[in-house]
Amino acid sequence: MRTVAKRLLPGRAVSLIGTARRLSSLAWNDVQDNVIAKRFPQKPRAISFMANDICNSKCQMCLIWERKRDKELTPAELGGILAQPLFSHVADFGITGGEPTLRKDLPELFRTAIRSLPRLQSASTITNAIRERQVIDSVMESAEICRAAGVGFSVMVSLDGLGDVHDVVRGRRGNFKTAMTCIGAFTEAGIATSFGCTITKSNAADVDELMDFASERGLYGRFRVAEFIDRLYNAPQTEHIRSFDDRERYHLGLFFFRAEHAFEPHPTHRKTYRSIRGMLAEGKPRSTGCPYQSKNVVLTARGELLFCSPKSPIVGNLLEQPAEPVYFNNLPIRDEIREKHCDDCIHDYHVPETFQEKVSFYKEHRRRARKYDLARLTTEASRLPSGAPIVPTANASRDVLIVGWYGTETAGDKAILWSVIERLRRRASPPDRITVASFHPFVTERTKAEMEIPDVEVVETYTHAFERRCREIDEVVIGGGPLMHLDALDHMLHAFIEIRGRGGTARIDGCGLGPLVGEKYLAAVRELMRLSNHVSLRDDASAKWAGEGFSRSVESSCDPAVDYVDAVRAEVLAGAVTIPEVAPNDGFDVACFLREMTGEYAGSRSPSKFEELRRSVEQALVEVLDDLSAEKTVRLFPMHTFTIGNDDRVFARRLVRQVTEQAGADLRTIAASKLPTTPKELLAAMAASRRLSLCMRFHSVLFAECLGVPYLAIDYTQGGKIHAFLKERNRLDRLITLDELASGEAKSRILDAAFVSELRPGGLALGAETR
Ligand code: SF4
Repeated sequence: MRTVAKRLLPGRAVSLIGTARRLSSLAWNDVQDNVIAKRFPQKPRAISFMANDICNSKCQMCLIWERKRDKELTPAELGGILAQPLFSHVADFGITGGEPTLRKDLPELFRTAIRSLPRLQSASTITNAIRERQVIDSVMESAEICRAAGVGFSVMVSLDGLGDVHDVVRGRRGNFKTAMTCIGAFTEAGIATSFGCTITKSNAADVDELMDFASERGLYGRFRVAEFIDRLYNAPQTEHIRSFDDRERYHLGLFFFRAEHAFEPHPTHRKTYRSIRGMLAEGKPRSTGCPYQSKNVVLTARGELLFCSPKSPIVGNLLEQPAEPVYFNNLPIRDEIREKHCDDCIHDYHVPETFQEKVSFYKEHRRRARKYDLARLTTEASRLPSGAPIVPTANASRDVLIVGWYGTETAGDKAILWSVIERLRRRASPPDRITVASFHPFVTERTKAEMEIPDVEVVETYTHAFERRCREIDEVVIGGGPLMHLDALDHMLHAFIEIRGRGGTARIDGCGLGPLVGEKYLAAVRELMRLSNHVSLRDDASAKWAGEGFSRSVESSCDPAVDYVDAVRAEVLAGAVTIPEVAPNDGFDVACFLREMTGEYAGSRSPSKFEELRRSVEQALVEVLDDLSAEKTVRLFPMHTFTIGNDDRVFARRLVRQVTEQAGADLRTIAASKLPTTPKELLAAMAASRRLSLCMRFHSVLFAECLGVPYLAIDYTQGGKIHAFLKERNRLDRLITLDELASGEAKSRILDAAFVSELRPGGLALGAETR
């Protein structure tokens, strides 16, 4: 029928019918779960069977390994339990442990499940892969039994990090190697294989590296945060479980954002990652459902029934009692678990998006698309009168909203935000209330902590709360960041229209201009300029462009981040700021602040020419770092740690990996930061580096120059803002062009600065002796 419809109907109609079918199935699920199941409780749809209560790992997050083997259901006993009517609707059967492969009869357990569960569709198991031969044989045989019965089969191998990181979490030396052997064997045999990474305090900083490794090798896996689980006897493991400090929580928030947007393909699991991020980085309650709240049950090796592993008591033993009364009579316990524990449970159980969630997402998406249409907003703005000039310091606004690219801020943006706020506070009549609009509030909340501005409020851009703030304020400031060709100009224009429509103040403070291509964006920026009561741009080139291109008289001031460096310079130079991941006596010679070349800097190059340039720049950096780290200690620090805008740590790890793989890890003294670093810590790293700061991110150049430390600057902006800044500062001698870098010409200059010459702080290089 479906094939006939596909042949007869146009493609769009088929796709609409498909969407309608999927939506109606979701709607029916919602009705079943929220209406029918509440009145007529459903039988379980999935069983997690803990086949044993012993393990040969010594994991940080589990104490099952301390237990001795006791009762383990035989296949016949298991069959007797599963054949009861309560389980007649079970479609999914998973075998966990302990370590299930320690049971020699594991394949037999799957055979039993297939025989006893009439609606079984899929089966799975998870293994620590320690006894690799036994694990491979047992899993292969289980997979074959399921295949022959037409039941889907998958295996998950525990993998908590690379090399020693994994072995430390698992308490078993050599386990990383055996895990990889098992993953390879299962994959080669065509078994659906994934890895499962459990995050504790000890591997939290290393999870990104595991994700890089998996992405490069096409491995699929899931990341979960270790949770207190009654069935794992892990209540005493407080040192390892959910014991993250603020920096680690933020780092994991960034990591789960990356997992959601750049790793996980399934919407259901992306939703779980969103929920984990909310819990870790924003202190929110669990926002995704859990199948154990309604459809899944746990069966232990002793035949005990539980509603879930983390928090359920044993509700009965199915070797001794019939299953249906045990299950149905105890459902109030499940309601109690939901009431008391689910909000704070971070365990990674997943449920698909509901119909309700889909509809509200769609409605909000439509609302935003209409409200923030850039072309419409630009036309609306053009009907308003131009902003009359004001003197910002004399303004007496009570309630100020700062808009811009916040929520994706780099270290430089954070410094700018600090300065914009400081200027508002230094007014004769400072505002009572300052709010920052942010695309990702959890990022900006962290910025508040890093920049010590706790009394500033954060509101999420594009929300009703943001729109309400736009109606309440008496001044809006585009604070920092370039005015460039991105659709997010729309929220700035919305705020400007709101405020200028009421006669309030609109300002642009400390921004740059460009890259700015495309009439739509040029028109939007033109309106922002025209509506402003005051425009201050952060470099002469931007000010000149504004004058010529937009006929707008602007003030050319220095980058606001300069004020921040001035404010913290004494503290930083006094060595009063500790640098994360660097032990107090662990000095380093060269601090690097490198970024990946991204498409917006392609200029007029074709994609293939730009890719050629990108590769040659990367190769040149690897060669420079290789030579540097042969004799000097080199540390790479991130100016940006968020996936959006390119996390510098991903690039740094790749460079370090290439250097150490080429030369042997133990022959090189080079390391990249794993955790996010604050602007003050980045400045401290520049001050602490004994020879040189090798800068690439624009604000790393500005930081080094304003701090007065020896540095060289790689101009990835190709004559843009880095060149303009160094020219203004009369420091063009510090500039390295991409061509110089890619051709290898720059290498000797960099090595010379690191090995021989003294780059006089804040001044020109002294004459070099021979190397
Ligand atoms: S406590 Fe709640 S969320 Fe956690 S596993 Fe149990 S039912 Fe699921």
